Amino acid sequence: MLKNDVKEFVLGVSFYDFQSLHNKEFQSEIIEVFSEIVKDSSFVEGPYNEKFETDFAEYLQAKHCLLLANGTDAIEIALKAQGVEHGDWVAVPCITFFASAEAVINIGAKVVFVDVDPLTGCFCPNSFERIASSYDLKAFIPVHIYGHPAPIEAIEKLCSEKKIKIIEDGAQAAGGYYRNGKPLGSSDHMTTYSFYPTKNLAAFGDAGAIVTNMSDKVDLIKSIRNHGRSPSGHTLIGRNSRCDHLQAAVLYKKLKDLPKLAEKRRSIAKLYLNNFQGLNLRLPPEELIPLSSWHMFPIGLKSKEQKLELEAFLKDRDIASMKFYEKSLAQEKPLAGTPGEFETSNQFADTTLCMPMNPFLTEDQIMEVTGAVKEFLKG
Ligand SMILES: *Cc1c(COP(=O)(O)O)cnc(C)c1O
Repeated sequence: MLKNDVKEFVLGVSFYDFQSLHNKEFQSEIIEVFSEIVKDSSFVEGPYNEKFETDFAEYLQAKHCLLLANGTDAIEIALKAQGVEHGDWVAVPCITFFASAEAVINIGAKVVFVDVDPLTGCFCPNSFERIASSYDLKAFIPVHIYGHPAPIEAIEKLCSEKKIKIIEDGAQAAGGYYRNGKPLGSSDHMTTYSFYPTKNLAAFGDAGAIVTNMSDKVDLIKSIRNHGRSPSGHTLIGRNSRCDHLQAAVLYKKLKDLPKLAEKRRSIAKLYLNNFQGLNLRLPPEELIPLSSWHMFPIGLKSKEQKLELEAFLKDRDIASMKFYEKSLAQEKPLAGTPGEFETSNQFADTTLCMPMNPFLTEDQIMEVTGAVKEFLKG
């Protein structure tokens, strides 16, 4: 973890800022809710679960939200609810968090990698088309990586022709928009969320959700998350993926600030992009400024060596940066031998470094970061 006191110094820029997020006002609000829950003895799936589900679906302009125990479970349960079975092929972009592929393997399905666009880190539609023509895909998991909208509109027609189910991994995308201006998560697919503490909308521990317009899948998902129960008893083999009432209450209280915090991330991304213009860096395209949820602000260096040098250079100046992701999924040992396309993904992972990104960064701090990067590139 980063030093919290670092922020006090002129030269300190931390990656996350939980102290500002959970300020005094929020603390007293949440303690009040927690004592209400303690008095009420409502432990799992209490009234705040439903309140959050209703409000989050409404915020995303979707019909349903189903809270779950975490974001990885959300992917597994979405795959199952969409009929993906043991031995089926599921395409996964090669730049994402490990869990996007792990979920596929844990339900007994097989992963094939789709390569990414080097500018955004999102899947490359041409690579997807090639994979879809050589593998009998049951599903595809486009990931809105860094909160950038993955170009699903480019492959929806092909997927509906070939009956490939689309499950959007929106773990980093709360607060973002598709290119048509609608909120990420409002599509007619299933979108999965993680509310892990570092995400844009975050619990005090683990939580996740599936958001969807498919009303016919709601009872199935509710049953899977609660041991296959339905009003008439156990009707299928499910699991336990219920969300704690305390986590739901935190999410409910935090949701009202999400739009404001998402706007702050956008203005920070815009400042970064303006200040980095003209430098020898690979930058996110400008069209993403109003769309992305800006979970991260990644920049691309010339080589892995240069990336590691910049990381050390920033650290010397008390500026945090992070290697998201240090490895492509194809470079991860437990996924060795997975077929598909990943050459660009490997280069992308080798050369990408994420700048500090949280809604509480000040303009001075942004200038400090971009000034340091400029100095590094000159030197
Ligand atoms: C965080 C994350 C997940 C996993 O979520 P957990 O809540 O940690 O299980 C899945 N996919 C992506 C892209 C993520 O960032």
